[in-house]
Amino acid sequence: MYNRNVYQDATKDKIAKITDFCEDYKAFLSKGKTERMCVNEIVKEAEKAGFVPAESKKTLAAGDKVYFVNKRKNVVLYRIGTRPLTDGLRILGAHLDSPRMDLKQNPLYEKEEFALWDTHYYGGIKKYQYVTVPLAAHGVICLKDGKTVEVHVGEDPTDPVLGITDLLIHLSGEMMQKKADKVIEGEKLDVIVGSMPLDGEEKDEVKANILRLFRERYGVEAEDFVSAEIEIVPAGPARDFGLDRSMVASYGQDDRVCAYTSLRALLDGEAPEYASCALFVDKEEIGSVGATGAQSLFFENTLLELLAKTGADDVLSQRRALERSYMLSSDVNAAIDPIYSGASDKGNCAKFNHGIVFEKYTGARGKSGASDANPEYIAKIRRVMDEAGVCFQTGELGAVDQGGGGTIAFISARYNMEVIDAGVPVLNMHSPMEITAKADVYETYLAYAAFLQGKM
Ligand code: MN
Ligand code: MN
Repeated sequence: MYNRNVYQDATKDKIAKITDFCEDYKAFLSKGKTERMCVNEIVKEAEKAGFVPAESKKTLAAGDKVYFVNKRKNVVLYRIGTRPLTDGLRILGAHLDSPRMDLKQNPLYEKEEFALWDTHYYGGIKKYQYVTVPLAAHGVICLKDGKTVEVHVGEDPTDPVLGITDLLIHLSGEMMQKKADKVIEGEKLDVIVGSMPLDGEEKDEVKANILRLFRERYGVEAEDFVSAEIEIVPAGPARDFGLDRSMVASYGQDDRVCAYTSLRALLDGEAPEYASCALFVDKEEIGSVGATGAQSLFFENTLLELLAKTGADDVLSQRRALERSYMLSSDVNAAIDPIYSGASDKGNCAKFNHGIVFEKYTGARGKSGASDANPEYIAKIRRVMDEAGVCFQTGELGAVDQGGGGTIAFISARYNMEVIDAGVPVLNMHSPMEITAKADVYETYLAYAAFLQGKM
C-alpha cells in the first residue's frame, strides 16, 4: 500500500500491536548503546529463538538456525530454507554502529584541577549537539593477560553521568560569531570525569584520583587504556516522544531501528523457502571499513562455511548463491522535518507514519556513490508489499545537492545481487535524540518479514 498513512483505517488491534512492538524496541535501544552491546542482545534473542553457533553444526538441513559472531562487533544469522543455498538467499543487512565520541588511547589528563578524557568523534555529527547533555561511557579494556574488563557508567539511575562543557552565554560574545561547524571544535569534545583531588599526591591530584578509582574498581592502570575501546554516548533509556506517544526518542536509532526490526523479522517468521539471513555490521558510519565493517570478507566467509556444510563449497556455488540473492539494505532515511521542510523535495521525501521507505538510490552530487536499484527488482518488492498489505513509501535523502549520504547497499551490489535501501524515516538523524514514528517501526518489521517470505 503505497503512500498512505498507517493510521488510516488502523484497527485498535493494529495500534496495540504497534505499541507493544515498540516497547520491546525501546528495551533493545536502552540495552544496546554500542555495537558490542547490540551483538550481545542479538545473540541472546537469537539463542532464545533456537539459534546455535554455526561451528556446532557439521551439516545443515532445512529449518536449521545458526549464527556467526565476528570479533564481538558484527554478527550474522541464517535460517536455512527448503531450497539449496545456491538458489540464492533473502538478506537483510543493518548496521549496529552509531555516531559518538571514542576515547583516545591516552585519554586521561588534568587541566584547571579537572580530570578529563580526550576523545575523537566517530561518524558525522553536529558537534555542538553533544555538549551539555548527560553522557555515558561503555566499552572494554583489554589486558595483557588476556582478560577483558567491561566498563558501563551512566545508564543506571543511581550512576553518575559524564558530560562536555560549553561556554556560558554571558562570556560567549566572540564564540557566537563563529560558524556552526567551528563553534565547537573536535578537540573541544573532551569529557569531564572528575574534580576531587587525591590527598598526598604532588601533582595532577584529580587525575590521580580517577586512576585510583579505575585501579580499585576495575584493576586497570593508565597504560591499559592503550588497548581499550570506550565509547561516549548519550546517557539514558529510549522514551516515548510526543503527547500522543506516537514516536520514540532515543540515541542510536540510526541504524538500530533497522537492526531490531530485521532481527525480529528473521526470528519471528516461519521456516523459509529461500534461506534467510540477517547481517549486522559495524563501521558503516565511517565508510564500512575494517574487519567488522560491511566491506570485510566476514560475510562471504560465513556463507562459504554454510555451503561447505551442505556439500557445495566450490567457488561457483558461492558466486551463484550471492548473485541469485535479494537484499534489503536495512538503513534509515531522513524524514521531512516540519521546521526545515525546505531541505527536502516534498514529492520525493519520506514522511512519518507512512511506513517503510524504499530508497532507489542514495549518494550525493548527481547520485555519486549510489547503488541505484533496478526497477525490475523494485516492481517485485511493490508486489510483495501490496500482497502483504504493508504500508510503504519512497524517499530521497534530501533535495538535490542539499548534501547526501551512503549505506552498505553498494557493497553487496558488487556480488551482482539485487539490493535496495529500505528502512525507517528518522528526524534529528545523528543527534543525541533521534526520533522515529512507532507506526513506521512496526510497518518496517512487517515489510522485512514479508520480504523474507515473499515470492519474487
Ligand atoms: Mn545508517
Ligand atoms: Mn548514519
